[in-house]
Amino acid sequence: MPNNATSTQRIEPQSASVAIESTCPYCGVGCGIEVTVSKPQEASTSTLTGLSTHPANHGRLCVKGTHLLETCVPEGRLTVPSINGETVSWDTASTAVAQKLTQCIEQHGPDSVAFYVSGQLLTEDYYVANKLMKGFIGSANIDTNSRLCMSSAVSGYKRAFGADAVPCNYEDLEQTELLVLIGSNAAWTHPVLFQRMERAKQLNPAMKVVVIDPRQTASASLADITLAIKSGSDTVLFNGLLKYLKDFGGLDSDFIEQNTNFSEAALAAASPFDSNTVSQLCDIDHQDLLAFYALFANANSAVSFYSMGINQSASGVDNANAIINCHLASGKIGKPGSGPFSITGQPNAMGGREVGGLANMLAAHMDIENPAHNALVERFWSAPNIAKKNGLKAVDMFEKVHTGDIKFIWIMATNPVVSMPNRQKIEAALSACETVVVSDTISKNDTLKFATIALPATGWSEKDGTVTNSERRISRQRALFPPTEQAKHDWQIICDVAAKMGFSEAFSYTCARDIFCEHAELSAYENRGSRDFDLSGLTQLTVQQYDSLKPIQWPVNAANPNGTARMFGNNRYFTDNGKATFIAITPTLPEQQTSPQFPYVLNTGRMRDQWHTMTRTGNTARLHQHTEQAELTIHPQDAIKCGVRNGELVTVVSEYTQQPIIMPILESNAQRKGELFAPIHWSKTWSSHVHLASLFSDANDPISGQPELKHAAVSLQKTAVLAHGTITSDIELSPDSLNKICDYWVKIKLENGYQYRVALLQTSRNGNVASPQADLALSLEPWFSRISSCLPISKIYTVVSDGHLMALKTDKDKFTMTISLTSKSERDGIEIDANWQNMLLGKAQLSSLDIHHILRNQADDEFTQGKLICSCFSVREKTIINAISKGYNSVNDLGKKLKCGTNCGSCKSELAGLITQQHALNKVTTNELIQVTVIGAT
Ligand code: SF4
Repeated sequence: MPNNATSTQRIEPQSASVAIESTCPYCGVGCGIEVTVSKPQEASTSTLTGLSTHPANHGRLCVKGTHLLETCVPEGRLTVPSINGETVSWDTASTAVAQKLTQCIEQHGPDSVAFYVSGQLLTEDYYVANKLMKGFIGSANIDTNSRLCMSSAVSGYKRAFGADAVPCNYEDLEQTELLVLIGSNAAWTHPVLFQRMERAKQLNPAMKVVVIDPRQTASASLADITLAIKSGSDTVLFNGLLKYLKDFGGLDSDFIEQNTNFSEAALAAASPFDSNTVSQLCDIDHQDLLAFYALFANANSAVSFYSMGINQSASGVDNANAIINCHLASGKIGKPGSGPFSITGQPNAMGGREVGGLANMLAAHMDIENPAHNALVERFWSAPNIAKKNGLKAVDMFEKVHTGDIKFIWIMATNPVVSMPNRQKIEAALSACETVVVSDTISKNDTLKFATIALPATGWSEKDGTVTNSERRISRQRALFPPTEQAKHDWQIICDVAAKMGFSEAFSYTCARDIFCEHAELSAYENRGSRDFDLSGLTQLTVQQYDSLKPIQWPVNAANPNGTARMFGNNRYFTDNGKATFIAITPTLPEQQTSPQFPYVLNTGRMRDQWHTMTRTGNTARLHQHTEQAELTIHPQDAIKCGVRNGELVTVVSEYTQQPIIMPILESNAQRKGELFAPIHWSKTWSSHVHLASLFSDANDPISGQPELKHAAVSLQKTAVLAHGTITSDIELSPDSLNKICDYWVKIKLENGYQYRVALLQTSRNGNVASPQADLALSLEPWFSRISSCLPISKIYTVVSDGHLMALKTDKDKFTMTISLTSKSERDGIEIDANWQNMLLGKAQLSSLDIHHILRNQADDEFTQGKLICSCFSVREKTIINAISKGYNSVNDLGKKLKCGTNCGSCKSELAGLITQQHALNKVTTNELIQVTVIGAT
């Protein structure tokens, strides 16, 4: 029932310097921002700061949020609709989508079509996509990439509370006596929340922090206890905690009696897990384990903060319920500073949950297979053809595309070829699918290659609507700039298609506010307190009220007109008898088990400055500086075992890989022996051989369907390299041309161009003839000629010396490209400082001294100060180490001296790490000196 009130579509910046409040589009923290948009409505002349009045961040932003405006560039945008690569009008494109959908449904039934949508969509986009599929097409085959992010948390909450109701809010992280981070490197993945945790601990040193993660992550800098458990042993750890609570007086009998459906079976399932058994199975120190258990048992309040390390598992739902059991058993829920708190990865994963973006949910937190819910939504929507059974979850959906049962798939705002497990199957499925529609903001990613119909969508800074963050807080995302060229909002694209399928009346929204109010009305419809998701207080928003809506936490209803900070304060749950439910947990092993052939466990996760598949953050040179390329982290003893050294290329395969993954290794004591870590962001758009999803099977949780993306069994071996090289260019080289000139490459964005790390491999797909024994110039000459032929040039300078070939190409004395090659099998000595070359790329004319320096690869002094640590103030590692050596021994002192860490604060944990590292080094040096002195004295 659309409300047809007229509306402006968004706030249009009309005059000079309009300040617009909006929300960061990256992680589930949902930070508020304020952008001062200048008259030309350009990102480059606008300014962005954290919004001090937003309750999620109180003005703070991490480095990604701080540099958001740099991502708003026209380059690389998808600007026009196309069919099979030919530009068409919007009318032709939406007619084609509607016709294909209608034909498929008529010939093969509604389950022959599917939508795969995204936590990047706004709630209004999500709502209409879900309504079209589930109410009008008559299938529930709509799933979202949030399936990969938090669907296990949803199922965990539903099993325990009868509803997908996140109990906590961010203030609980500050008010708790004990904060337990489980499978979450919040310092990098949710940096602003981590800053809030840091500050809370600073203000209250009695607050204890326990970090549970197989890796020693940046978040461990805050920990009183770190438990580096064996990958996949979370349920063992929390079953052990439940048993400990029972055995050592940690149960809250009154709470259990009054508010839970207590289950002896849950205690019985936990009973084998005494602390000795747990410490053995989790491979952690027994005393540390007991210390954690005692802290939890004795604390008056505790928050368990969990994320992908818990969710992305074939036992993700059990992981969540094992944690929730402990909160129910000890009554640590529904009061300040207490509760199991799942944090979402995506900006609007929660909005997707609210509208039913998952294939096993209906809308407004109702269930498809609940007849009463189904009939209610059918009535509300006047739906002609409501889906009666759950649809296919992501892994099963792509399986059906693969088998040909699904003949039409519409992918919106996501890149499943990179993010879904079993990449080879996803590629095969999309190659064979009759119609693949992709709506996206960008023109190139690994998924768009498979699009038969490509539709340009608006992105962050153009979109207008709402998002919900991890603490149930709805915030407005407002348009800052007009849409790029022909881009349309996702909800408009969907409504156009719906109208052409004959459903115009139900999809005749004129603005995002119309959709939001209908969504709110549905949440309130015949609710009467029976459902957790209730926006009855927001159903009558006028256009102006919607435009100026302040962040608010649902439920928003007569009882809570200003929103609800914390759920379950009344101890009333959404189960049949209103009590929370214990679940008996039997630990199971991850599906991909190691073997002599695949002896290592591969874990994956995010880096600090990149986001998802880099389609936005990849545009910002600054965000490449913290981590330039994907590296495989390995314990130094494993590196020795494999005969590899820091920086060398290794080839990684699993039972499922058809094409090997190749990346350099990074030795680190933070890694458990036998376990590896690689970042998720890089794809074939950014590298020749980094496509991690190929290593993973279809293994997923039997309840939530969330894929097991943190546990693959792999082997690795040193990659035989014939020659290494670095190419720096003022223009982007296409993957096709790079694949012709080298076997391995990875792209790094610079402000003024690109840098590529390249290699020729012994097992070459290009038939390269280079040989380590051959004369350098001879062996590299064919390769060099091939690279040179890729670009128009006017002049080439080359130098061959000391086993290296260095070439510079200029055009009218302007730097266009350098090529540095060596026929050695190691990269040593050929690294070229990207910042230095970036500066040279920006010069209008090179001096003869510049050319001299380039040909000898001698960077100027200012570029030799090490890795960039503080992106905001461009403070580098060596400058910081230098300051530490002069006595600036705290993060605060360093901030006062160098300003590092004083803006977004994302680098604070690294600053702390550098201080610890330098102190440890100083200790070693001092000890060595003492030994030398003693020996000398003897
Ligand atoms: Fe954006 Fe960073 Fe805030 Fe996440 S923590 S919402 S990425 S500014």
